[in-house]
Amino acid sequence: MQKTALLQQWPPKYDTQYIPDVNEKFWYKDIETASKEELDELVFYKLKKVMEYAFKHSDFYNRKWSKVDFHPNDIKSLKEFDQVPITTKAEVRQDLLENQPFGSNVCIPFSEVHRIQGTSGTTGKPTVFSFGKDDWERIAHQHARIMWSFGMRPSDLVFIASPLSLYIGSWGALIGAERLGAKTFPFGAGQAGQTEKAVSWLKEVKPTVFYGTPSYALYLAEKAKELGVDPKEFGFRILFFSGEPGAGVPSTKKKIEETFGAICIDSGTMAEVTPWMSNTECEHRKGVHLWQDVVYTEVVDQQSKKLVPYGEEGVPVYTPLERTSQPLIRYWSGDLTTWTDEPCPCGRVYPRLPKGIYGRIDDMVTVRGVNVYASLLENVIRKIDGLGEEFVMIVTRDNIMDEVTIQCETLGTRSNQDLKKQISKELKREVGVTFNIDLLPIGTLERTQFKAKRVIDKRNFKES
Ligand SMILES: [Zn+2]
Repeated sequence: MQKTALLQQWPPKYDTQYIPDVNEKFWYKDIETASKEELDELVFYKLKKVMEYAFKHSDFYNRKWSKVDFHPNDIKSLKEFDQVPITTKAEVRQDLLENQPFGSNVCIPFSEVHRIQGTSGTTGKPTVFSFGKDDWERIAHQHARIMWSFGMRPSDLVFIASPLSLYIGSWGALIGAERLGAKTFPFGAGQAGQTEKAVSWLKEVKPTVFYGTPSYALYLAEKAKELGVDPKEFGFRILFFSGEPGAGVPSTKKKIEETFGAICIDSGTMAEVTPWMSNTECEHRKGVHLWQDVVYTEVVDQQSKKLVPYGEEGVPVYTPLERTSQPLIRYWSGDLTTWTDEPCPCGRVYPRLPKGIYGRIDDMVTVRGVNVYASLLENVIRKIDGLGEEFVMIVTRDNIMDEVTIQCETLGTRSNQDLKKQISKELKREVGVTFNIDLLPIGTLERTQFKAKRVIDKRNFKES
């Protein structure tokens, strides 16, 4: 597919049979290595089309924009796009409550719905999505294209460890791998005793690629070692992740790569933003690339909602460019990141988030006025010798002061006094808050087969 062809057709129709030669570095070289101006032209073309489409077909957007007198024609260039009103999770949830079960943003008749998906409901009531077949095929196609950039090829066998449930991540990984022509093994952990089974399956079947959450990969490695198996024996080449920030946390990435003897790839946006792999690292692992012609990602100022310059911190805001069943325009993540347009050795033109998304709003607590993100703690704890992988942050408030306790596990190789001193010092330096440290014997904290719960907030704000 040439870039020029994409400038004449929306929604795009991709050749469903196309797969590059295995030695090709790029899926669509023409687009991935275009000049910045050429990429901007393509992105703006798609943005215009998706906005016009939403205004015409989505009751949700027509109502929302008409109320503030906004029309897609008001936007004359890509630079002006940050004037478009933000869409928030709260608005979408409210719309779903008022227009059950699918909300007023569905643009296709029910007879054309191909897949119903939902969020895993980590926080609050799950959100429901309905996808048309065209959208579903485009998601598969774009995921395959992005998987290609971190080295997946049709000869690979992909082990899908995350649950095949409401969690959309597993389905995106599955359909992308299938579209790429790889073999898949949809294992879907989550049942009691399944991790022991995974160890024996992996030893026998020898998949080359792993997909799951970072905390599950580390739990799997711990289980394997208990059973006398070195995780390197599984023979993975690539482990790719979404659902948690860990794969972008430097010390966790290093630990995963050393444990499995394979490369660790960070990926993921939000469940609502499908295709979600539009933020994914290439094989060079210099932070996630923003595949701007798939989902246009802005990094914006928290207050003004305008783009921040490269090198600065802001909130990712997402606009999928090819979704016709349920468009989303400028969807507010609430997360935190920094971005750069410095070149990547892979040669792709897409900007990058060099530190990934380090501030997940779901994993954040405000303690004495400081925002504390679990991923910052993770980076500190996984760097310290003598500690296990698990940790929990517990926040309490006795009188008016917040108290934060970090519980982590010791391997018994160093004295507790020595460990406490180092943890306190490094946490104070990196996070800026003083923590109580509670050291527990290895194996005490709960293990997860999916997403780890790192923050327990026991403060009762209603009474205080
Ligand atoms: Zn790259």
